[in-house]
Amino acid sequence: MSLLELRDITYTVSGRTILAGLTLAVEAGEVHALLGSNGTGKSTLASLIMGCQGYQPDSGDIVFADTLINHLKIYERALLGISMAWQEPARFEGLRVRDYLTLGRVTDQPESTLRLVGLEPSRYLSRMVDRSLSGGERKRIELASILALRPKLAILDEPDSGIDLLSTDDIIRVLDHLRCAGSAVLLITHRDEIAAAADQASQICGGRIVCTGNVAQVTADFKNKKCISCDGEVCSDE
Ligand code: ADP
Ligand code: MG
Repeated sequence: MSLLELRDITYTVSGRTILAGLTLAVEAGEVHALLGSNGTGKSTLASLIMGCQGYQPDSGDIVFADTLINHLKIYERALLGISMAWQEPARFEGLRVRDYLTLGRVTDQPESTLRLVGLEPSRYLSRMVDRSLSGGERKRIELASILALRPKLAILDEPDSGIDLLSTDDIIRVLDHLRCAGSAVLLITHRDEIAAAADQASQICGGRIVCTGNVAQVTADFKNKKCISCDGEVCSDE
C-alpha cells in the first residue's frame, strides 16, 4: 500500500472539469515530481490532497496512510502528517517567525531549521511573517516550517516559471533534508534540474496522469510533447 493513493479523482469547478479520473500513488519516503503545462491542474490537485476549503473531489478516493481522507479538514490532514508549501509563499499577519516555526512542533529548534534554508536566525526569529519579508524570505521560512514539522508527506508547489523565489541548489538542499527525515515529497516544479532530484515522476495532462516512471524518461517525454491524452495539443502550450 502506498503512502498516498489518489484513485480516479474527478473535480469540477464553475462547470469546468479540471481533474477527470486522475489516479496517482506516492510511496513513503519517495520524492515524486509532478510535471505538467500551465493550467493542467497541478495546484488544484495539491489543494485537493491538502483539503483546502472548497476543494472536495466530486468522485474518487484520496487515501493517505491507509485512511480515506476525502472528508477530513485541512488541520486533520496536517495531524496525519501532510503539509504543503504553497505556490504563493505563506503570510500570517501578527505572527512572529519564532512562533510560526515552533507552534505545534515536537522539536523546538527554530534556529537549526532556519539555518538549513540559509537564513541567519538572529536576524529573523523576531520578524513578523508578513509583507515586510520578501517573497524569497517567506518561501525560505515556509520551507523551514515544513522541515521542522517532519511530515510524512510534503507537497511543494513551486511558483510558476519566471518567478523563481529560490535557487535550484536551495530547493535540492531542502529535498535532501526531507529525504533524510524520511518524508515523501510531491514535487511540483517547472525546473528540470529540480525534477532530476526526484525518485519518480508523473505527467499530468487532460485532467489525468498520463505516465509515471523514471524521471529522465518522463521529463523527456514531457519536453517532446509526447502525451497519450492530448497528443501534444494541451502539452504544447508551455
Ligand atoms: P496549474 O497549477 O497546473 O498551473 P491550476 O491547478 O492552478 O493549474 O489550474 C487548473 C485550471 O483550473 C486552470 O485552467 C485554472 O484557470 C482553472 N481553475 C482553477 N481554479 C478555478 C476556479 N475556482 N474556477 C474556475 N477555474 C479554475
Ligand atoms: Mg500551479
